[in-house]
Amino acid sequence: MTIRLVLFDLDDTLFPSTEAYQNGLRAAWKRLRKDRGLSWSEFDQAYQRARQDVKKRLGTSPAARNRLLYFKRLVEIVYGSPHPGKVLALMSAYNACWSTVDVRSPRRVLRQLARRFVLGVVTNQVGEMQMRKLARLDPDGRYLKVVVTSEEVGVEKPDPRIFREACRLADCRPQEAILVGDSWKDDVQGALKAGMRAVFLHSGSVRRSLPSGVHSLSRLEDLPKWLA
Ligand SMILES: [Mg+2]
Repeated sequence: MTIRLVLFDLDDTLFPSTEAYQNGLRAAWKRLRKDRGLSWSEFDQAYQRARQDVKKRLGTSPAARNRLLYFKRLVEIVYGSPHPGKVLALMSAYNACWSTVDVRSPRRVLRQLARRFVLGVVTNQVGEMQMRKLARLDPDGRYLKVVVTSEEVGVEKPDPRIFREACRLADCRPQEAILVGDSWKDDVQGALKAGMRAVFLHSGSVRRSLPSGVHSLSRLEDLPKWLA
């Protein structure tokens, strides 16, 4: 069946999130260093502990990914109480990170594909943060016609319901859709469960033999040519 809808994972598929997160943490550390004199490794340890505390408590709830809660917990660890002003200052320093990464190449891919397909995003994250990334990629909504976050849907990838919701919004059947993502479990397996095809974005060599309906690519930039 012909492909009409191309859905993308957002983090580290369309948007270089790992690089941005690292830049954001460095910026937050510089803010905290001013009045606390923490070294980078002390800061990073406290952040990882705060993140684990939040994740342990919230499990698979989308709130378990909320940076504001990580910084609130971090401030509690470092200062012994919440200090809302400091929490917001860290969050604001962190949020400068979205503009520190280069998105020209994924934007080019979106522009090329939008001429021939309906495009969308399916992502496990809180909506606020994903809007910041999407505002870099496609601020005017010219390319991405469907955006579904786990926070809105209440379930996370690889739950097939989140993929089916994206198909429903795009008025496409799963058989007419393909999902492009860098996570074997969340993206590829989830898409297959939902009845879609998948492209596994994978920088190294793929050792496993790929099931029917799955193709692997090492670079997002190769997608337009492959879909043609
Ligand atoms: Mg990803």
